Amino acid sequence: MKIIDKEDLDSFVADMIEKGEKEVVGVQEKGHKYAFQELKRAEDLRLDYDVTMLPPKKYFMPQREDLLEYEKDEDLSLEGVNEVVPRIIIGIHPYDLIAIEQMDRVFSDTYEDEHYLKKRKESVLIGVNMQEVSEWSFAASMGTATTDYGYDLMLTDLGDRYAIEIGSSKGSDLLERYCVDLKEAKSEDIESVEREKEKIKESFEKEFEFSPESLPWLMEQGYEKKEFWEEHAEDCYSCGSCNLVCPTCYCFDVQDISDLSLGGGKRTRKWDGCLLESFAVVASGENFREERSERYRHRYMRKGKYLYDMFGDIACVGCGRCSSHCVPDIADPTVVFNELMEEVR
Ligand code: SF4
Ligand code: SF4
Repeated sequence: MKIIDKEDLDSFVADMIEKGEKEVVGVQEKGHKYAFQELKRAEDLRLDYDVTMLPPKKYFMPQREDLLEYEKDEDLSLEGVNEVVPRIIIGIHPYDLIAIEQMDRVFSDTYEDEHYLKKRKESVLIGVNMQEVSEWSFAASMGTATTDYGYDLMLTDLGDRYAIEIGSSKGSDLLERYCVDLKEAKSEDIESVEREKEKIKESFEKEFEFSPESLPWLMEQGYEKKEFWEEHAEDCYSCGSCNLVCPTCYCFDVQDISDLSLGGGKRTRKWDGCLLESFAVVASGENFREERSERYRHRYMRKGKYLYDMFGDIACVGCGRCSSHCVPDIADPTVVFNELMEEVR
Protein backbone atom coordinates (compact mmCIF):
# COMPACT_ATOMS: atom_id res chain seq x y z
CA MET A 1 0.00 0.00 0.00
CA LYS A 2 1.18 3.54 -0.84
CA ILE A 3 0.26 6.95 0.48
CA ILE A 4 -0.22 10.12 -1.54
CA ASP A 5 -0.99 13.63 -0.27
CA LYS A 6 -4.23 15.07 -1.64
CA GLU A 7 -2.54 17.83 -3.65
CA ASP A 8 -0.22 15.24 -5.20
CA LEU A 9 -3.22 13.17 -6.27
CA ASP A 10 -4.54 16.29 -8.07
CA SER A 11 -1.17 16.64 -9.85
CA PHE A 12 -1.24 12.92 -10.75
CA VAL A 13 -4.67 13.32 -12.37
CA ALA A 14 -3.71 16.62 -14.04
CA ASP A 15 -0.57 14.99 -15.48
CA MET A 16 -2.57 12.10 -16.96
CA ILE A 17 -4.99 14.57 -18.56
CA GLU A 18 -2.19 16.76 -19.91
CA LYS A 19 -0.12 13.91 -21.40
CA GLY A 20 -3.27 12.59 -23.11
CA GLU A 21 -1.91 9.07 -23.65
CA LYS A 22 -5.31 7.67 -22.67
CA GLU A 23 -8.65 9.41 -22.26
CA VAL A 24 -9.16 10.23 -18.58
CA VAL A 25 -12.68 9.71 -17.25
CA GLY A 26 -13.83 10.64 -13.75
CA VAL A 27 -16.93 11.20 -11.68
CA GLN A 28 -18.24 14.76 -12.02
CA GLU A 29 -21.18 16.70 -10.64
CA LYS A 30 -24.16 17.18 -12.96
CA GLY A 31 -26.81 19.34 -11.32
CA HIS A 32 -27.54 17.54 -8.05
CA LYS A 33 -26.39 14.20 -9.46
CA TYR A 34 -23.14 12.58 -10.57
CA ALA A 35 -21.89 11.04 -13.81
CA PHE A 36 -18.80 9.39 -15.25
CA GLN A 37 -17.55 11.77 -17.96
CA GLU A 38 -14.31 12.68 -19.68
CA LEU A 39 -12.23 14.82 -17.32
CA LYS A 40 -10.83 18.02 -18.77
CA ARG A 41 -9.60 19.42 -15.45
CA ALA A 42 -8.38 17.55 -12.36
CA GLU A 43 -10.38 19.88 -10.08
CA ASP A 44 -13.67 18.63 -11.59
CA LEU A 45 -13.11 15.12 -10.20
CA ARG A 46 -15.52 14.27 -7.33
CA LEU A 47 -14.46 11.32 -5.23
CA ASP A 48 -17.02 12.08 -2.52
CA TYR A 49 -20.12 11.24 -4.60
CA ASP A 50 -22.84 8.84 -3.45
CA VAL A 51 -23.79 7.11 -6.72
CA THR A 52 -23.59 7.97 -10.42
CA MET A 53 -26.66 8.01 -12.69
CA LEU A 54 -25.22 5.34 -15.02
CA PRO A 55 -22.57 2.78 -14.11
CA PRO A 56 -19.19 2.76 -15.91
CA LYS A 57 -20.30 -0.23 -18.04
CA LYS A 58 -21.22 2.35 -20.72
CA TYR A 59 -17.51 2.53 -21.63
CA PHE A 60 -17.27 -1.19 -22.42
CA MET A 61 -20.78 -1.68 -23.72
CA PRO A 62 -21.93 1.65 -25.19
CA GLN A 63 -25.67 2.40 -25.41
CA ARG A 64 -25.38 1.99 -29.16
CA GLU A 65 -22.43 0.64 -31.18
CA ASP A 66 -21.74 -0.63 -34.66
CA LEU A 67 -20.66 -4.26 -34.83
CA LEU A 68 -19.78 -4.32 -38.51
CA GLU A 69 -20.18 -2.45 -41.78
CA TYR A 70 -20.67 -4.11 -45.11
CA GLU A 71 -20.29 -3.09 -48.75
CA LYS A 72 -21.88 -5.02 -51.52
CA ASP A 73 -19.62 -5.34 -54.55
CA GLU A 74 -18.64 -8.40 -56.49
CA ASP A 75 -17.82 -10.20 -53.25
CA LEU A 76 -19.66 -9.38 -50.06
CA SER A 77 -17.10 -7.94 -47.66
CA LEU A 78 -17.54 -7.64 -43.91
CA GLU A 79 -15.46 -5.18 -41.97
CA GLY A 80 -15.22 -4.90 -38.19
CA VAL A 81 -15.74 -1.44 -36.69
CA ASN A 82 -14.81 -1.76 -33.04
CA GLU A 83 -14.08 1.74 -31.78
CA VAL A 84 -11.69 1.21 -28.85
CA VAL A 85 -10.70 4.30 -26.85
CA PRO A 86 -8.01 3.49 -24.24
CA ARG A 87 -9.25 4.99 -20.97
CA ILE A 88 -8.29 5.56 -17.36
CA ILE A 89 -11.52 5.58 -15.35
CA ILE A 90 -11.20 7.21 -11.93
CA GLY A 91 -13.53 6.91 -8.94
CA ILE A 92 -15.34 3.58 -9.36
CA HIS A 93 -17.11 2.36 -6.22
CA PRO A 94 -16.56 -1.27 -5.12
CA TYR A 95 -20.08 -2.44 -6.14
CA ASP A 96 -19.47 -1.18 -9.70
CA LEU A 97 -16.05 -2.88 -9.81
CA ILE A 98 -17.69 -6.16 -8.81
CA ALA A 99 -20.38 -5.62 -11.45
CA ILE A 100 -17.65 -5.17 -14.10
CA GLU A 101 -16.09 -8.48 -12.98
CA GLN A 102 -19.49 -10.12 -13.52
CA MET A 103 -19.80 -8.54 -16.98
CA ASP A 104 -16.29 -9.79 -17.86
CA ARG A 105 -17.48 -13.34 -17.14
CA VAL A 106 -20.62 -12.90 -19.24
CA PHE A 107 -18.80 -11.47 -22.26
CA SER A 108 -16.04 -14.07 -22.25
CA ASP A 109 -18.14 -17.15 -21.53
CA THR A 110 -19.25 -19.31 -24.47
CA TYR A 111 -18.59 -16.59 -27.03
CA GLU A 112 -15.74 -14.10 -26.59
CA ASP A 113 -17.29 -10.75 -27.38
CA GLU A 114 -14.35 -8.82 -28.83
CA HIS A 115 -16.24 -5.51 -28.82
CA TYR A 116 -16.57 -5.63 -25.04
CA LEU A 117 -13.28 -7.40 -24.26
CA LYS A 118 -11.00 -5.12 -26.30
CA LYS A 119 -12.46 -2.06 -24.59
CA ARG A 120 -11.94 -3.68 -21.19
CA LYS A 121 -8.37 -4.66 -22.01
CA GLU A 122 -7.51 -1.08 -22.93
CA SER A 123 -8.95 0.39 -19.74
CA VAL A 124 -7.37 1.10 -16.35
CA LEU A 125 -9.78 1.09 -13.41
CA ILE A 126 -9.11 3.32 -10.40
CA GLY A 127 -11.56 2.57 -7.62
CA VAL A 128 -12.41 4.62 -4.56
CA ASN A 129 -13.91 3.48 -1.29
CA MET A 130 -17.21 5.22 -0.61
CA GLN A 131 -17.23 8.44 1.34
CA GLU A 132 -21.00 8.96 0.92
CA VAL A 133 -23.59 6.18 0.79
CA SER A 134 -26.67 6.54 -1.42
CA GLU A 135 -29.95 6.29 0.51
CA TRP A 136 -31.06 3.64 -2.02
CA SER A 137 -28.01 1.42 -1.77
CA PHE A 138 -27.78 -1.88 0.11
CA ALA A 139 -24.28 -2.89 -1.00
CA ALA A 140 -23.31 -4.04 2.50
CA SER A 141 -26.04 -6.72 2.37
CA MET A 142 -24.69 -7.94 -0.98
CA GLY A 143 -21.05 -8.05 0.22
CA THR A 144 -20.09 -5.36 -2.31
CA ALA A 145 -19.54 -2.32 -0.08
CA THR A 146 -15.79 -3.00 -0.24
CA THR A 147 -13.70 -5.22 -2.48
CA ASP A 148 -10.26 -6.83 -2.59
CA TYR A 149 -10.34 -7.38 -6.35
CA GLY A 150 -11.53 -5.89 -9.64
CA TYR A 151 -9.40 -2.72 -9.57
CA ASP A 152 -6.02 -1.68 -10.87
CA LEU A 153 -5.70 0.93 -8.12
CA MET A 154 -7.98 1.57 -5.13
CA LEU A 155 -8.09 4.85 -3.22
CA THR A 156 -9.20 5.38 0.37
CA ASP A 157 -9.64 8.87 1.79
CA LEU A 158 -7.64 9.27 5.02
CA GLY A 159 -8.28 12.97 5.61
CA ASP A 160 -5.27 14.90 4.28
CA ARG A 161 -4.04 11.97 2.16
CA TYR A 162 -5.19 8.96 0.16
CA ALA A 163 -4.11 5.37 0.65
CA ILE A 164 -3.54 3.58 -2.65
CA GLU A 165 -3.89 -0.20 -2.90
CA ILE A 166 -2.31 -1.68 -6.02
CA GLY A 167 -4.39 -4.40 -7.67
CA SER A 168 -2.51 -5.14 -10.89
CA SER A 169 0.58 -4.42 -12.97
CA LYS A 170 -1.51 -1.92 -14.97
CA GLY A 171 -2.00 -0.03 -11.72
CA SER A 172 1.66 -0.09 -10.66
CA ASP A 173 2.76 0.93 -14.20
CA LEU A 174 0.44 3.91 -14.04
CA LEU A 175 1.90 5.01 -10.70
CA GLU A 176 5.44 4.63 -11.98
CA ARG A 177 4.67 6.57 -15.10
CA TYR A 178 2.84 9.54 -13.65
CA CYS A 179 3.14 9.64 -9.90
CA VAL A 180 6.41 10.75 -8.41
CA ASP A 181 5.57 11.61 -4.84
CA LEU A 182 4.46 8.38 -3.17
CA LYS A 183 5.25 7.20 0.33
CA GLU A 184 5.18 3.68 1.71
CA ALA A 185 2.14 3.12 3.95
CA LYS A 186 2.90 2.71 7.66
CA SER A 187 1.12 0.14 9.82
CA GLU A 188 -1.18 2.91 11.19
CA ASP A 189 -2.20 3.82 7.61
CA ILE A 190 -3.12 0.18 6.91
CA GLU A 191 -5.15 0.09 10.13
CA SER A 192 -6.89 3.36 9.17
CA VAL A 193 -7.90 1.91 5.79
CA GLU A 194 -9.39 -1.17 7.50
CA ARG A 195 -11.27 1.10 9.94
CA GLU A 196 -12.66 3.18 7.04
CA LYS A 197 -13.87 0.02 5.30
CA GLU A 198 -15.64 -1.17 8.45
CA LYS A 199 -17.22 2.28 8.87
CA ILE A 200 -18.56 2.14 5.30
CA LYS A 201 -20.19 -1.26 5.86
CA GLU A 202 -22.07 0.12 8.85
CA SER A 203 -23.42 3.17 6.99
CA PHE A 204 -26.22 1.50 5.01
CA GLU A 205 -29.85 1.93 6.01
CA LYS A 206 -31.33 -0.49 3.51
CA GLU A 207 -30.66 -4.17 3.98
CA PHE A 208 -31.78 -7.71 3.32
CA GLU A 209 -33.51 -9.55 6.13
CA PHE A 210 -31.76 -12.78 5.09
CA SER A 211 -28.51 -13.85 3.49
CA PRO A 212 -28.39 -13.21 -0.30
CA GLU A 213 -27.09 -16.78 -0.61
CA SER A 214 -30.72 -17.85 -0.12
CA LEU A 215 -31.85 -15.93 -3.21
CA PRO A 216 -31.68 -18.81 -5.74
CA TRP A 217 -33.78 -20.94 -3.39
CA LEU A 218 -36.18 -18.06 -2.71
CA MET A 219 -36.73 -17.37 -6.40
CA GLU A 220 -37.45 -21.00 -7.10
CA GLN A 221 -40.01 -21.08 -4.29
CA GLY A 222 -41.50 -17.74 -5.30
CA TYR A 223 -41.78 -18.27 -9.06
CA GLU A 224 -45.36 -19.54 -8.97
CA LYS A 225 -46.63 -16.85 -6.55
CA LYS A 226 -48.71 -15.30 -9.32
CA GLU A 227 -50.66 -12.92 -7.10
CA PHE A 228 -47.48 -11.61 -5.48
CA TRP A 229 -45.96 -10.70 -8.85
CA GLU A 230 -49.22 -9.22 -10.19
CA GLU A 231 -49.68 -7.08 -7.13
CA HIS A 232 -46.08 -5.80 -7.18
CA ALA A 233 -46.11 -5.12 -10.94
CA GLU A 234 -49.49 -3.36 -10.94
CA ASP A 235 -48.02 0.15 -11.24
CA CYS A 236 -45.16 -0.76 -13.60
CA TYR A 237 -44.94 1.47 -16.70
CA SER A 238 -42.74 -1.06 -18.55
CA CYS A 239 -40.33 1.84 -19.09
CA GLY A 240 -37.22 -0.34 -18.67
CA SER A 241 -35.32 2.27 -16.61
CA CYS A 242 -34.51 -0.29 -13.91
CA ASN A 243 -32.77 -2.43 -16.54
CA LEU A 244 -30.95 0.37 -18.29
CA VAL A 245 -29.29 1.87 -15.20
CA CYS A 246 -28.26 -1.50 -13.75
CA PRO A 247 -24.50 -2.27 -13.75
CA THR A 248 -25.12 -6.01 -14.20
CA CYS A 249 -27.77 -5.87 -16.96
CA TYR A 250 -26.20 -6.56 -20.34
CA CYS A 251 -29.00 -7.45 -22.78
CA PHE A 252 -28.86 -5.86 -26.21
CA ASP A 253 -30.80 -5.85 -29.44
CA VAL A 254 -29.07 -6.27 -32.83
CA GLN A 255 -30.32 -4.59 -36.00
CA ASP A 256 -29.13 -4.71 -39.61
CA ILE A 257 -29.60 -1.35 -41.29
CA SER A 258 -29.21 -1.20 -45.08
CA ASP A 259 -28.31 1.90 -47.07
CA LEU A 260 -31.18 3.23 -49.20
CA SER A 261 -29.19 2.17 -52.29
CA LEU A 262 -28.92 -1.39 -50.88
CA GLY A 263 -25.21 -1.15 -51.73
CA GLY A 264 -24.11 -1.56 -48.14
CA GLY A 265 -25.12 -1.09 -44.55
CA LYS A 266 -24.21 -1.82 -40.98
CA ARG A 267 -25.08 -4.03 -38.05
CA THR A 268 -25.61 -2.21 -34.75
CA ARG A 269 -26.48 -3.18 -31.23
CA LYS A 270 -28.17 -1.12 -28.56
CA TRP A 271 -29.13 -1.68 -24.95
CA ASP A 272 -32.33 -3.59 -24.39
CA GLY A 273 -34.23 -4.44 -21.21
CA CYS A 274 -36.45 -7.33 -20.17
CA LEU A 275 -39.05 -4.95 -18.67
CA LEU A 276 -39.78 -3.46 -22.10
CA GLU A 277 -42.92 -4.87 -23.71
CA SER A 278 -41.22 -5.84 -26.97
CA PHE A 279 -38.27 -7.62 -25.33
CA ALA A 280 -39.54 -11.19 -25.73
CA VAL A 281 -41.33 -10.74 -29.07
CA VAL A 282 -40.09 -13.22 -31.68
CA ALA A 283 -40.24 -13.11 -35.49
CA SER A 284 -43.74 -14.60 -35.76
CA GLY A 285 -45.08 -11.81 -33.54
CA GLU A 286 -45.53 -14.04 -30.50
CA ASN A 287 -44.59 -12.39 -27.19
CA PHE A 288 -43.24 -14.89 -24.68
CA ARG A 289 -43.72 -12.48 -21.77
CA GLU A 290 -46.82 -10.59 -22.72
CA GLU A 291 -47.98 -9.85 -19.18
CA ARG A 292 -46.35 -7.01 -17.26
CA SER A 293 -46.10 -9.20 -14.15
CA GLU A 294 -44.19 -11.87 -16.14
CA ARG A 295 -41.63 -9.29 -17.26
CA TYR A 296 -41.39 -7.85 -13.76
CA ARG A 297 -40.83 -11.31 -12.26
CA HIS A 298 -38.30 -12.18 -14.95
CA ARG A 299 -36.00 -9.31 -13.88
CA TYR A 300 -35.89 -10.62 -10.30
CA MET A 301 -35.42 -14.19 -11.52
CA ARG A 302 -32.40 -13.04 -13.53
CA LYS A 303 -30.92 -11.18 -10.56
CA GLY A 304 -31.51 -13.89 -7.96
CA LYS A 305 -31.38 -17.18 -9.83
CA TYR A 306 -30.83 -17.45 -13.59
CA LEU A 307 -27.42 -15.75 -13.69
CA TYR A 308 -26.42 -17.49 -10.47
CA ASP A 309 -27.19 -20.83 -12.16
CA MET A 310 -25.00 -19.87 -15.15
CA PHE A 311 -22.09 -18.01 -13.55
CA GLY A 312 -22.37 -18.44 -9.78
CA ASP A 313 -23.03 -14.72 -9.25
CA ILE A 314 -26.00 -13.05 -7.61
CA ALA A 315 -26.50 -10.47 -10.35
CA CYS A 316 -27.36 -7.58 -8.06
CA VAL A 317 -24.58 -5.60 -6.42
CA GLY A 318 -26.90 -3.40 -4.35
CA CYS A 319 -26.15 -0.04 -5.98
CA GLY A 320 -29.80 1.03 -5.65
CA ARG A 321 -29.93 2.74 -9.07
CA CYS A 322 -32.99 0.74 -10.16
CA SER A 323 -35.10 1.90 -7.22
CA SER A 324 -33.93 5.51 -7.40
CA HIS A 325 -34.89 5.70 -11.11
CA CYS A 326 -38.28 3.98 -10.84
CA VAL A 327 -41.05 6.61 -10.90
CA PRO A 328 -43.74 4.48 -9.18
CA ASP A 329 -41.08 3.26 -6.70
CA ILE A 330 -41.66 -0.47 -7.18
CA ALA A 331 -38.16 -1.58 -8.21
CA ASP A 332 -36.36 -1.78 -4.86
CA PRO A 333 -34.83 -5.28 -4.64
CA THR A 334 -34.70 -5.18 -0.83
CA VAL A 335 -38.47 -4.58 -0.65
CA VAL A 336 -39.36 -7.22 -3.25
CA PHE A 337 -37.00 -9.92 -1.98
CA ASN A 338 -37.79 -9.30 1.70
CA GLU A 339 -41.55 -9.44 1.01
CA LEU A 340 -41.20 -12.54 -1.14
CA MET A 341 -39.32 -14.22 1.68
CA GLU A 342 -42.25 -13.44 4.02
CA GLU A 343 -44.60 -14.92 1.42
CA VAL A 344 -42.80 -18.24 0.98
CA ARG A 345 -41.83 -18.86 4.61
S1 SF4 B 1 -40.22 -1.43 -12.35
FE1 SF4 B 1 -40.17 0.84 -12.43
S2 SF4 B 1 -38.31 1.40 -13.60
FE2 SF4 B 1 -38.75 -0.82 -13.97
S3 SF4 B 1 -39.97 -0.84 -15.85
FE3 SF4 B 1 -41.44 -0.80 -14.14
S4 SF4 B 1 -41.85 1.38 -13.81
FE4 SF4 B 1 -40.01 1.29 -15.09
S1 SF4 C 1 -30.78 -4.70 -9.56
FE1 SF4 C 1 -30.83 -2.55 -8.91
S2 SF4 C 1 -29.63 -2.50 -7.01
FE2 SF4 C 1 -29.16 -4.44 -8.04
S3 SF4 C 1 -27.31 -3.99 -9.26
FE3 SF4 C 1 -29.09 -3.65 -10.61
S4 SF4 C 1 -29.56 -1.45 -10.40
FE4 SF4 C 1 -28.20 -1.99 -8.71
